[in-house]
Amino acid sequence: MQGKAVVIGGGIAGLLSARVLSSHFEQIMVLEKDAYSEKAVTRNGIPQSHHIHILLMKGRQILTDLFPNLESVLISKGAHRVDLLADVKYHLATGFALRLKSGMYTIACTRHLLENTIRDELLTHCHNVKIKENTMATSLAKSTNGNEILGVNTISNNSLSSFYEGRLIVDATGRRSETAKWLEKIGFERPPQLKINSWIGYATQKYKLPDNLNLDWKSLIVMTKPPTNPRMAVIYPVEGDNVVMVGLLGIGKTYSPTDKDGFMEFAKQIGVDEVKGIIEKSKPISPIFGYRETGSRQYLFENMKKWPDNLVALGDSVCAFNPLYGQGITVTAICAKTLGNHLENDWQTNYHIKKGFSQSFQKKIAKVNSFPWLLGTSEDLRWPTSEGPRPNLLTTIMQKYANDVMLLGPESKLATRSFFAMMHMLKSPLVLFHPLIMTHLLYKKLAKKKHQKINQIICLLFVISVVIMIRNKHVV
Ligand SMILES: Cc1cc2nc3c(=O)[nH]c(=O)nc-3n(C[C@H](O)[C@H](O)[C@H](O)COP(=O)(O)OP(=O)(O)OC[C@H]3O[C@@H](n4cnc5c(N)ncnc54)[C@H](O)[C@@H]3O)c2cc1C
Repeated sequence: MQGKAVVIGGGIAGLLSARVLSSHFEQIMVLEKDAYSEKAVTRNGIPQSHHIHILLMKGRQILTDLFPNLESVLISKGAHRVDLLADVKYHLATGFALRLKSGMYTIACTRHLLENTIRDELLTHCHNVKIKENTMATSLAKSTNGNEILGVNTISNNSLSSFYEGRLIVDATGRRSETAKWLEKIGFERPPQLKINSWIGYATQKYKLPDNLNLDWKSLIVMTKPPTNPRMAVIYPVEGDNVVMVGLLGIGKTYSPTDKDGFMEFAKQIGVDEVKGIIEKSKPISPIFGYRETGSRQYLFENMKKWPDNLVALGDSVCAFNPLYGQGITVTAICAKTLGNHLENDWQTNYHIKKGFSQSFQKKIAKVNSFPWLLGTSEDLRWPTSEGPRPNLLTTIMQKYANDVMLLGPESKLATRSFFAMMHMLKSPLVLFHPLIMTHLLYKKLAKKKHQKINQIICLLFVISVVIMIRNKHVV
């Protein structure tokens, strides 16, 4: 272990980065502009923390690898274990998805509890990590004759300027990252950006459920119904006695009001009575918080001709997703793990940083980001009100196909299990191309056309032959 590393930003991306760096550097300094608080539910740097944060299964797995005690500590603080398909009731445009025991689970709690617990675990187990609160990075300092960043200039809340030197600098400053500007100031080109905005708005309130409700689900998720209903609802269990967060979302500037009556009216317009019922029967225990900064935005750092050898960026700072598919934390966790592996294999030769170390990292995480980006923006691009470049024909077909598989939810266990395993990043998108799923979709399409009977017989024969092949292990 050699030298110091500096992480800018002490949100989830910064904390996970510090965790993987702790095996490679003598000292890791995390610079966070806010002061943390155990009690306050949010802080200026993470205004999104009033809203529901679903931790995808893959994210839960990686967090558990990095912090083996995390799950048990979260549960001891009131978080819930939630089975992906047995405990979550999904309402799709075609009806309620089938419920089944999936054996795949996540941990449900507020983002605030998750971040605080990760930070506690980090500081307890990684003694070479220090966090400097109230310390805002203001610029990067570059060596005069090389391609390396020497360190980070900061200003504290009482206006004291400081400089933090590091052999490796990690940018984890989130959606509002200034790194592009900082790089331009020290002579690098401005990185290209890709933006797609479907103008999603959130309104969220916490409720205490009555004791006698006897729900057969822990979470209820009502998806949008394109092209007629851009409204969506998520009811999600968090820590506390029978406490849930109710999030009402709308696409294309269909924003839920944040006053009591407007919130209820919006809930009615979602079109699933259970949402309205929960709000009516439960006791609100927080104000209604609104949030609208949700566009999908990525910096294409990997395409820059020149990039500092010892600066890496990850998390929302590089790629901020529209939050509908709950991908941010999980993708960040995958990127942090990628950083750990990259350091293991490609960091230095004879104490010199390998040329292109950081650029090849940015290329790797661009690949990690690419599929979640396609999935997230597929919802954006279903709405004519969305702004941003349209994808090519192949991508459009793939996005439409994935959506069609999701819509089989009310009638096919296989499609449901496959879609949600893919969405939770446990399985590759190829899982959607199971022959039985493809046949099911084909059958539905053909059944709508002329010669229905003949088409159905052809499909039936196809299904039978696929089943025989699968049983004989010729396929999958
Ligand atoms: C409304 C909404 C809902 C979401 N829902 C989900 C969900 O369900 N599931 C999910 O996985 N993700 C969700 N996300 C995304 C998720 O919040 C982020 O992807 C995730 O937290 C990773 O963020 P980050 O650490 O990269 O950035 P952030 O969480 O934004 O953290 C950045 C940190 O850097 C600090 N900082 C910024 N600038 C400086 C500076 N100059 N100097 C020092 N410190 C600085 C900030 O104070 C902050 O602490 C949602 C996002 C939004 C907006």
